[in-house]
Amino acid sequence: MATLPQHHPLKGNPAPAQGFATRAVHAGEKPDFREGATGDVAAPIHLATTYARQKVAQPGRYEYVRSQNPTREALEAKLASLENARYGLAFSSGMAAETTALLALLKAGDHVIAFDDLYGGTKRLFEQGFANFGVETSYVDATNASLVEKAVKPSSKMVWVESPTNPLMKLADIRAIAEIARKHGLILVVDNTFLSPYFQKPLDLGADVVVHSITKYLGGHSDVLGGALLVNSEQLYERLQFHQNSSGAVLPPFDSYLTLRGIKTLAVRMEQHQKNALAVAQFLEKHPKVSRVLYPGLESHPQHELAKAQASGFGGMLSFDVKGAGADAETFLERLRVFTLAESLGGVESLIEQPAQMTHVSLEKAEREKIGITDTLIRVSVGIEEVADLIADLKQALEW
Ligand SMILES: *Cc1c(COP(=O)(O)O)cnc(C)c1O
Repeated sequence: MATLPQHHPLKGNPAPAQGFATRAVHAGEKPDFREGATGDVAAPIHLATTYARQKVAQPGRYEYVRSQNPTREALEAKLASLENARYGLAFSSGMAAETTALLALLKAGDHVIAFDDLYGGTKRLFEQGFANFGVETSYVDATNASLVEKAVKPSSKMVWVESPTNPLMKLADIRAIAEIARKHGLILVVDNTFLSPYFQKPLDLGADVVVHSITKYLGGHSDVLGGALLVNSEQLYERLQFHQNSSGAVLPPFDSYLTLRGIKTLAVRMEQHQKNALAVAQFLEKHPKVSRVLYPGLESHPQHELAKAQASGFGGMLSFDVKGAGADAETFLERLRVFTLAESLGGVESLIEQPAQMTHVSLEKAEREKIGITDTLIRVSVGIEEVADLIADLKQALEW
């Protein structure tokens, strides 16, 4: 296992003294005033793949880009700071981060307990990837923490949840599940992509590993693919970092720079996403052609109180059902002019999609219906446009 060098910038990241928005701008990007340094205000993009040394037996601070890169390290330090984590690692995609976490933390014969409403790609990774190597996964409705405990068996090693989930906006009680994980010696992984660290900090709630798809809110502009893992335990960090280097799915320098740039506005973007999402949810809830709206910020959401207790906000994602059949959902979606019909989420522009035929098409119809992903379900990533334009667009598209 690689041990962390004493001078590593992430070694024992201190507890945050400054507010979130300040750290979003400054963390990891302190100007370098040492002799000969430039004092860049924004972390420069270091493109070199290898770093020279003066003595054969004395490696410098950097050796080879897969192992270390200054731009990626600046981002890893910023991400760690925002999640109140001691350590951060940046990957070439959210799925690469997940693959590396599973590779580092599991072995054949291990058992994982996962939320049954899970990002489609994550379920595919468990079922069509790690299942082939003898890792077994049980899916439970983690809205009820006691079902997580019921699923524990001697071979259990890990609990994997998202909160809120994609696309049904179900919540897992992270504190309660962390308690169960601790009691049974399991690693709790929380995919925090939907709320971003601005609204939710799972490590503070007792999780061991936080996963992000940087592609969504952290990048924020639908122009960078990336992923991240955040931890507090030095031992976990060393295992993850070893496998990040050995599997090689690192975030490239230019993408690291784009993410650093995107994160600077995370606090202001998330506030606006949430403001717009609440207004859109309230509009939809009153509309006669809408049969249900799933948004944790609505009092009608069955876990509204839990949302308030474990997160500082409700985010910019919501789902709803139109009345009628799947074809009506398609008609509605194709009539929209401001919302873009597309997969993905978390960008400044409003994106909308039908999970049954788009993001969740890889799930069997029976499985989709069992968990509530109907053909009339529509998922929205509410952007930061003028909210009146968003509501007017929904209104005209609902008049089919
Ligand atoms: C998009 C997403 C992922 C996968 O991330 P990529 O960057 O697309 O590889 C994982 N989890 C959630 C919740 C996501 O939305």
